[in-house]
Amino acid sequence: MENIQSLSQMTSWLATGRILFLLIHLLGVGCFAYIVAKRLAPLIRGERDFRFDQPLVRLGRVLKFWLGQWKHPRYRTAGIIHIFIFAGFIVLAIRAFSVLIVGVSENFVMPGLSGRAGPIYDIITDYAATIVFLCMVIAVIRRLVFKPARYAVPARYGKAHTADAIFLLSLIAILMVADSLFAAAKAAAQSQPGQSVESLAAFSLPWILQKALLSTALSTLGKLYFSAYLVHELTFYFLLCYRPFGIQFHVETSLFNIYFAKLDREILKPVRWGVSDEHLDQVKSFGVKSFEDFTWKHMLDFYSCADCGRCSDNCPANAVGRPLSPRFITVKARDYSFQHYPVLGRANDGRPLVGSKDSGSIYSEDEIWSCTTCGACEAECPLLIEYIDKIVDLRRGMVDDGNVPQSLQKPLKALESRGNPYGKMEKKKADWANAKEFQQICPVKTLDKKNGADTLYFVDSITAYDDRMQSIARATAKILNHVGENFGILGPAERDSGHEVRRFGEETLFMALRDNNVEAIKASGVKRIVTADPHAYNALKHDYKDVPPVEHISQVIAREVKAGKIKFNPVENADSVYTYHDPCYLGRHNQIYDDPRDVLDAIPGLKRVEMKRSRDRSFCCGGGGLMLFYEPKEEQRMGVKRVQMAAEAGANVIVTACPFCMVNIEDAIKVAGLEGKMTAIDLAELVEKQIASESQTVA
Ligand code: SF4
Ligand code: SF4
Repeated sequence: MENIQSLSQMTSWLATGRILFLLIHLLGVGCFAYIVAKRLAPLIRGERDFRFDQPLVRLGRVLKFWLGQWKHPRYRTAGIIHIFIFAGFIVLAIRAFSVLIVGVSENFVMPGLSGRAGPIYDIITDYAATIVFLCMVIAVIRRLVFKPARYAVPARYGKAHTADAIFLLSLIAILMVADSLFAAAKAAAQSQPGQSVESLAAFSLPWILQKALLSTALSTLGKLYFSAYLVHELTFYFLLCYRPFGIQFHVETSLFNIYFAKLDREILKPVRWGVSDEHLDQVKSFGVKSFEDFTWKHMLDFYSCADCGRCSDNCPANAVGRPLSPRFITVKARDYSFQHYPVLGRANDGRPLVGSKDSGSIYSEDEIWSCTTCGACEAECPLLIEYIDKIVDLRRGMVDDGNVPQSLQKPLKALESRGNPYGKMEKKKADWANAKEFQQICPVKTLDKKNGADTLYFVDSITAYDDRMQSIARATAKILNHVGENFGILGPAERDSGHEVRRFGEETLFMALRDNNVEAIKASGVKRIVTADPHAYNALKHDYKDVPPVEHISQVIAREVKAGKIKFNPVENADSVYTYHDPCYLGRHNQIYDDPRDVLDAIPGLKRVEMKRSRDRSFCCGGGGLMLFYEPKEEQRMGVKRVQMAAEAGANVIVTACPFCMVNIEDAIKVAGLEGKMTAIDLAELVEKQIASESQTVA
């Protein structure tokens, strides 16, 4: 029995176990430290990123998203498997270290596990190893037999990662078997007469192996014990050193990635951290043009991606066949980083990041312009990987180089000269409100030195100039009038909010539009702002500074309904089935999900159904703002897909709360051949139609 209990005394390859295992430890730890140092090299050269504030908030997020695996159950089967694997790893981490040390110091016991806790912990680890092993088997079967579509790699993005995934899953399974065999061989030897038996957890993998080994000769058990330990050691260190070469690196980086994840996701990253707007003229080049222009945190994102495909599975651009799949924005950057910052050899100059196919760049221009900044990828990613900031930064780099799609050049020039993308005259901005008949039923002031108001209705370009969308402006004005709001508009003094211009990457133009609006808003003396456009809402709330608080009209309506100031007549079309489409910049970017639904549910007789993809899984209508002027390559329009989702839910009226959604959805209804069967209406329009006159409280 001596030899089975003392690994350090065993002799193999002319060395005692202690020397052999010590050498393996030193080699394993040394290689891992070297590889990690090499992986950190690009991060050190990356741009700065301020992620060191609010440590308690960050720790809370680590507890929620890392330890609590908060987002994983959004995909039930894969999520549950991952939670079991993760929990197993956490439990086994302490055991792995104590097992490693036992090879050189046979009597080592992890502090805290020497008393009663030891056997209890051993039982837990027996089950943990079993669960992790079973999860590996299930994961391999899923990959090989069920092949979830989101793991597939389209040909344009390279080869499938299945072999690598299976190799890694198999290694983890081997680790679990080796660990279990190590415990089982020892327990089987102890089962011989005269030994004190270490009990194993019933029906666990070590227990099953122990039962199988009961009649094995002691000398064979000794060899098995030693071999299992050696395989465990070698597999452990191989995994440790192999992981930084692929998707499994997230095992090491995920905790840090979540700790340093962006806290205020709705706020777009500045052009350069630490450089104020006033000093931007000193910045030599805007945006990301080379790999090193990414911030260190964005590079850490690249390392931390688990390649689970959830982001792309939810990306509307990917769903309609645009040349964009967020997962591969990350995978390609990670591959690039591994190639240009190799573990062996020197870092070398790389390819350009964005360009045409011939340029050998890693991203195509269309890929970068295809994003609608809808945020679905970020809402889904269990590792809180960021996309919008990276894509906007890549666009900033392209715009800085004068690389702007042809179709966008005209609207950008118009924004520069006229303050709106249509090139319409400023003096026409209030035309929607100035028609005599409308002024008679709903007077709308244009604010100036003589005409003041408490509330500014910020209309924004599309609602002010587009003939169809002007109906939303009039409905909004009537609602404000109805609830007795003392409000006005800026009229010709209002410029486009610049929301899309900024996300398009034109920071300087955005700043000019913003500054103009801020000045006009301040001069108007208003105390608060209301808008019916979620893009304007998002810009005023997050991109502007020093402006009064802003609300979306759906928030105002919901509040006034609760206060009893707005009452509704029974719904006009009682046979219709309504569904609410969450605009990205109201829902995902600002978490306004309930107010519009509460308003709809307050209309007597209105039947409402939810689409499968709703709330934070809402499907973008096709992109607001400048996306209306950009014609990406795609197989199907996003709006058409969305309209089909509404039809599948059994709805025949789509309610939204955004003029851009309205343009895309109404257009999609025609393209989908659903005219006459499906209609779209803005929440403000519906509310204005349904308001009961007895709740009138005209100002
Ligand atoms: S923001 Fe939306 S469109 Fe852009 S990559 Fe993410 S999911 Fe796709
Ligand atoms: S970015 Fe996140 S969601 Fe997308 S593949 Fe990577 S880990 Fe999965």
